[in-house]
Amino acid sequence: MGRLIFLLLLPIFVFASHVQSFKWKDGESFLTFLERKKLPLTLFYNLDEEDQKLTEDIPYNANCQMLISSKNSINQILIPINDELQLQIYLSPKKRYSMRVIPIVSETYKEVLYTQITSAPYDDILRTTGSKNLASTFVRMFKGRVNFKKDLKAGDPLVIVYEQKYRLGKPFSMPEVSGAMIEIAGKRYSLYRHKDGNIYDEKGAQFEKFIFKSPMRNARITSGFTKRRYHPVLHRYRAHLGVDYGARSGTPILATGDGRVSFVGTSRGYGKTTKIRHSNGLISLYAHQKSFKSGLSNGSSVKQGEVIGYVGSSGLSSGPHLHFGMYSGSTPIDPLSVMKKKTEGFSGKEYKVFVAIRSKLDQIFNEKLRTKPMKHRGNDFQDVYYVDKNTFKVEAF
Ligand SMILES: [Zn+2]
Repeated sequence: MGRLIFLLLLPIFVFASHVQSFKWKDGESFLTFLERKKLPLTLFYNLDEEDQKLTEDIPYNANCQMLISSKNSINQILIPINDELQLQIYLSPKKRYSMRVIPIVSETYKEVLYTQITSAPYDDILRTTGSKNLASTFVRMFKGRVNFKKDLKAGDPLVIVYEQKYRLGKPFSMPEVSGAMIEIAGKRYSLYRHKDGNIYDEKGAQFEKFIFKSPMRNARITSGFTKRRYHPVLHRYRAHLGVDYGARSGTPILATGDGRVSFVGTSRGYGKTTKIRHSNGLISLYAHQKSFKSGLSNGSSVKQGEVIGYVGSSGLSSGPHLHFGMYSGSTPIDPLSVMKKKTEGFSGKEYKVFVAIRSKLDQIFNEKLRTKPMKHRGNDFQDVYYVDKNTFKVEAF
């Protein structure tokens, strides 16, 4: 009997195509990936400069999928570039590989996390949700306000209200936190996101200790940050994961904030590039440089406004300019969103709007604290889908 079942199952197992998930390796270039998978390198060389540069922004650990045919050949690969766009490599009916940039089909869910401290907020949030992005966002929000190392005790509660994007059934990209609280020795510390996108404390004072400055004097922005844009002439999806500043070759580039140099070197797309890791965890990137400031190396500490290099056109660049990027982990964010001026609190009508947002979030915090804290979410993200190469539609597989 056992043997009969084996024989019946075998053909299905052998001939069914299947989906393999894999993570993008840290430091892997798109070309070495193609080589490793024995895919034609023309997939890369046929891309135009903008798209070639995009391949350098594939976040490490990005969740990728590969559809393997019954004959064990690769039918389709999906590689997310950011939370809006992905690269799709697919086998055409003529059995040739093609590639294009297509939108990511995602769903956004509102979620509330309530857990209690057992060791440290970062570890507890990570253990409960599995999300490093959520854990680091929470810690960054409270940095400078609460000393987690000194004051926290086991059992102290924390609540986070946030929106999370899901792709192919799995959480991805940065969560958007709308409110968070933590109680330490019976004292509650809360933060709220106002309509303007900034984070405020209970009194409506803007809580952002870290303000970045423009990487250039007399800055002139020639191209802004966009995760997804449809080019009406090229009929293609594009992304620009930074801000371009037009400037003459040789113009000094300034550190946007205090920090430590985490990279000085050259890449194919971005050319001569410097990266600085800042104390709030964000990483700024300065690309297409003509030259680096002499003496600058990995680990050098820099002050806000300090010259770190000079504008040029190295890498894939059509003329002298600075490409300025900002990253949270490996996720690109709009540099201008962290270069806002500090506001002086709210007045009249605006304050009323804030009070409404605050009381709604306080209500969620209080409701949660009356329930049982989450221990572990469990794994319910096992569904597998693939994207139909003609319609972009996600289909159950
Ligand atoms: Zn650029």
